[in-house]
Amino acid sequence: MHDVIIIGAGMTGAAAAWAAAKRGRSALVLEAGRLHHRRGSSHGTSRIFRTVNESAKYSRMVHRSQGLWREVEQESGTSILRMRGALDFGPTRNVDSLYAAARRSGTDCELLTAEAAQERWPSFRFPTAVIHHREAGTIDPQAAIRAMLDIAIDNGAELRTSTPVLALREEANGVLVETPSGTFRGRTAVIAAGPWLPELFAATFPDVPPPMVTVNEQNVFHFRQRDPEEQWPVFVYKGGLQLFALPSGADGGSEPAIKIGRHNPGKVVTPDRRDGVPTAENREIITRFVEEHVPGLEPTPVGGDACLYTITRNDDFILDRIGSIVVASPCSGQGAKFMPVVGEIIAGLAFENAPADPDFSIPTHAQQPITAAR
Ligand SMILES: Cc1cc2nc3c(=O)[nH]c(=O)nc-3n(C[C@H](O)[C@H](O)[C@H](O)COP(=O)(O)OP(=O)(O)OC[C@H]3O[C@@H](n4cnc5c(N)ncnc54)[C@H](O)[C@@H]3O)c2cc1C
Repeated sequence: MHDVIIIGAGMTGAAAAWAAAKRGRSALVLEAGRLHHRRGSSHGTSRIFRTVNESAKYSRMVHRSQGLWREVEQESGTSILRMRGALDFGPTRNVDSLYAAARRSGTDCELLTAEAAQERWPSFRFPTAVIHHREAGTIDPQAAIRAMLDIAIDNGAELRTSTPVLALREEANGVLVETPSGTFRGRTAVIAAGPWLPELFAATFPDVPPPMVTVNEQNVFHFRQRDPEEQWPVFVYKGGLQLFALPSGADGGSEPAIKIGRHNPGKVVTPDRRDGVPTAENREIITRFVEEHVPGLEPTPVGGDACLYTITRNDDFILDRIGSIVVASPCSGQGAKFMPVVGEIIAGLAFENAPADPDFSIPTHAQQPITAAR
């Protein structure tokens, strides 16, 4: 019998396996697809890492994550975090309150007028004041998953890809998991199924109200840097539009590019029923933004992609337990940066009977309805 059976080998499942290994617990990771497949939320080589957060709680979590990412890098000999700095701007970005929150949490940052920022980053045209923070950059999700799983496997974990979990249920002494290639038993289980959470949850807990989440398709586009040598920061813009941008890494092709994504609520889909093609409308909106505000980029995208956000009310994570089964979805387009801490919280719930944090409880219809994404 395994100490824990983890369902899903995206970033959450990998972080859970890594945290189990750190505690000397045996883990079996079951992944429906191939490792690093592109149909969920964790594919590719770039996500934003930033310690700035208006919530004191998430800010503490991300500061702790930063140290743990460095541990994972050291133990695995892999490069995961690349610090580039970050800029926040835009008419509704509330730079003053974000700056105050960043200072309170000890984040190394400065508030610049549009003119001062313009002088330092001539590749932009800033419409407002700008926050610059240094403890920010990119995370490579593919490298992170590989590194965390390798550490787990070196410590006795087992990974089975192309092994979809068909059914999961509690038994007297733990959990029973059914797959096409056999039945497995564990003391506990972790559902880390990303956008497939609603369907696996409904099949596992037919008598529990389903978690109130929506799955949205988000579009990103890659724009070539005019100067391939320029070191770009990541940036977040909020006006009528909400955009995030970061160096594309390998996702943008062989020449350096910047990936820009739209954070506004996207098309509501299910993971198995969507076309996965970025829309012409988003392409045009983001291209117009580049023309207006980012003259350091060629304004014709050289590539685009669509991936899945799982969104809760208020963008909070789901890290909860029902009986012996942990339900984990660090979602809403911001989970990647927190993953080592998420792994620790999952391990606390699975092995140490830690109480679930009410902020991360499974959202139900009895609670507030989902609001628009950040
Ligand atoms: C476009 C986009 C941009 C983002 N940008 C950022 C960012 O800049 N910064 C940041 O911090 N975060 C960001 N995120 C969020 C972050 O990427 C996600 O929080 C994270 O990848 C979620 O990982 P996951 O493991 O929970 O889900 P997934 O990666 O989707 O993994 C779930 C896995 O479970 C498997 N699975 C499902 N059902 C079963 C089953 N029945 N049996 C076996 N396996 C199953 C799936 O095949 C899948 O591999 C972004 C997300 C997206 C989509």
